[in-house]
Amino acid sequence: MRAMVLDKPRQPLQLRDVEKSRPAKGQLLVRIATCAVCRTDLHVVDGELPDPKLPLIPGHQIVGRVEEIGEEANSKFKVGDRVGIPWLGWTDGDCVYCRSNRENLCDRAKFTGYTIDGGYAEFVVADARFCFHLPEQYDDVDVAPLLCAGMLGYRSYRKTGDAHRLGIYGFGNAARLITQIAIYEGREIFAFTRPGDKTGQESARKLGTAWAGGSDEMPPEKLDAAIIFAPVGALVPAALRALAKGGSVVCGGIHMSDIPSFPYVELWGERAICSVANLTRRDGEEFLDIAPRVPVRTETETFPLEEANTALGRFRSGELSGTAVLLISDHPGDR
Ligand SMILES: [Zn+2]
Ligand SMILES: [Zn+2]
Repeated sequence: MRAMVLDKPRQPLQLRDVEKSRPAKGQLLVRIATCAVCRTDLHVVDGELPDPKLPLIPGHQIVGRVEEIGEEANSKFKVGDRVGIPWLGWTDGDCVYCRSNRENLCDRAKFTGYTIDGGYAEFVVADARFCFHLPEQYDDVDVAPLLCAGMLGYRSYRKTGDAHRLGIYGFGNAARLITQIAIYEGREIFAFTRPGDKTGQESARKLGTAWAGGSDEMPPEKLDAAIIFAPVGALVPAALRALAKGGSVVCGGIHMSDIPSFPYVELWGERAICSVANLTRRDGEEFLDIAPRVPVRTETETFPLEEANTALGRFRSGELSGTAVLLISDHPGDR
């Protein structure tokens, strides 16, 4: 099968013909239709995350169809079913985290496109228990960005509890998806873009945000919570200063530059800082339940599999106008 392979971090992916895996016990073999590109893929390719599997096929927002089912695989899928394969690829089910509904924190977890091979390829094998059925109303391109930007964004959003005035720093894919849900649920969104990014602010306003400005500005009202999707540590104290007492800052990214020091008085007043790690299957199911009801819309820009390096390069330099989605099978529009 064709695959884009990372031999070593900080090198372009190589187009290779690699051997197709066989589904082991409990696994599905999936023929991939599309795979959306996530910021985490950039962190992996750029060597910012420790110990990836090497060589590695990146990609963890995979949409495809079941081609073959391994022995004793979960009966919720049959051959031909459309499936979504997310970041969380496997957990031991047995550690203190898994046993307390926190499988996202499992010490032995395996991650698609990071510690196991992912979706920049024609086929992938995946543990059936971690795959999702996808809502019918989305096609293979539109649904792909929901699988990480959507699901992890949703977990970050849920961490903000019942915050009414919600700030979002870094107004990219995850922010745009979560904003649609938050507004649907009656929240007010304050969008923070790169300073001076008037186009980004304008497009945030078009989504219905209450306010949009640069991350160097203060919002017109104090916020009940803020989510940071940009990998920029300096935004943590900036967001803290925008919070009302009792508010929290949720860091939604897997990687962030160092957080500069700040006076304790800015944390005082029961303000809190936390991070969100990975996702649980339940987050994914809840998100895929609410997304079509809103309905959450995605904006995408498509690239053939062979142009994965171009997609990553344009993501890195901030030139994409939507989520990059790699087209892999011949009929990406088929349901
Ligand atoms: Zn575990
Ligand atoms: Zn991701």
